Amino acid sequence: MSTIFKRIIDREIPADVVYEDDQCLAFRDVSPQAPVHVLVIPKKEIASVDAIGDEDAALLGHIWLVIGKLARELGVADGGYRVVTNCGKLGGQSVDHLHFHLLGGRQLDWPPG
Ligand code: 5GP
Repeated sequence: MSTIFKRIIDREIPADVVYEDDQCLAFRDVSPQAPVHVLVIPKKEIASVDAIGDEDAALLGHIWLVIGKLARELGVADGGYRVVTNCGKLGGQSVDHLHFHLLGGRQLDWPPG
């Protein structure tokens, strides 16, 4: 069963894509929690952080480089921003496709709820 993010990768449903390459996709969250709220996802179907394997090390390194680049391009790098990945039910994960929330553009509180 494909997740909604797989359907976004396959362009079966629309999304506001801000970055794409052969390994990952970044698009604006449909329910933004900050002025900048982008989701960065691998094109490979990995359910969560808990499902990352040794073979994914280069992919994850690439994604972190993309996150930093996007933060600069979207104008939040100077002020500061947050990158979050929720894992599993207690972690608040609602879509079972690994994703990194890039949040910025306002003062963010800590700890999260
Ligand atoms: P999670 O709760 O799993 O950490 O984050 C899932 C995120 O995906 C949520 O912030 C939610 O707003 C976002 N989301 C869910 N469905 C869609 C969708 O169809 N399009 C977009 N752009 N974002 C979505």
